[in-house]
Amino acid sequence: MTMRQTDESLRQKAARLRLTYIRDNMPELMRAATESKMTPREVLDYVLSKEVDRRDANRVKLATMAAHFPRACTLENFDFAAQPAVDPGTIRELAKVEWVAAGENVLFLGPPGVGKTHLAIALGREAVKKGFSALFISASGLVSLLDKARRESMLDEKIAMLSKPQLLIIDEVGYLPISTENANLFFQLVSRRYERKSIILTSNRSLNDWGVIFGDPTVATAILDRLLHHCTPVNIMGDSYRLKEAKKDKLFKEK
Ligand code: ADP
Ligand code: MG
Repeated sequence: MTMRQTDESLRQKAARLRLTYIRDNMPELMRAATESKMTPREVLDYVLSKEVDRRDANRVKLATMAAHFPRACTLENFDFAAQPAVDPGTIRELAKVEWVAAGENVLFLGPPGVGKTHLAIALGREAVKKGFSALFISASGLVSLLDKARRESMLDEKIAMLSKPQLLIIDEVGYLPISTENANLFFQLVSRRYERKSIILTSNRSLNDWGVIFGDPTVATAILDRLLHHCTPVNIMGDSYRLKEAKKDKLFKEK
């Protein structure tokens, strides 16, 4: 279909208003409206719905990029049958992300390979889908970021930056010990977010070990106090999914 003069002028107006769906699909829109004999109300609804859908999709795409998720884990590809230690009802409830709106926290605890990071990313993606901003960072990455900021006298700016996203995912607390000085910076961040912005934290260490991880029981207690106050703890005391998969592969090969 060739574009008429008036269509081109409509297209330009759509472009000015950043109605990108109309801008890019003018002939198809005209054809669809004519062929299905839409009423004016139906045309408006059709066009505005397309714009809204596109804008939502763009927003989710940008927010997903900004979140820096390291992998594309979703709740759909989490196998609940393979991990009986995880209660599907609890995860379904968390997937509504009402706790993010309330500034509450989620803690995933358990040995390596049980799906802590997978679930943390999957919930992060649910939050982004529902319009929240998120940021994923490893605990060691976070600590070195804060440490560097302190040395460069940029700590306030860095903590302000890390306090912006409505959900901060701190992955793998406990793999590396944290110096007392850095534990204090970690505490500053957690208290800045306390009761306003959510944290998902994953750890392979029991909470009793946190005094050792943070090199100081007092700071560890202060951090835990704030984290746990409004928090859903999810203990995954199951077997490693990776190991299970590896064993399955081996069985196949042996047959
Ligand atoms: P953790 O963070 O507890 O060490 P991960 O979340 O990194 O474990 O899981 C290890 C690997 O196994 C990842 O690739 C993850 O996607 C996968 N995985 C773990 N549990 C499940 C599960 N129940 N269903 C599907 N994949 C899983
Ligand atoms: Mg992990």
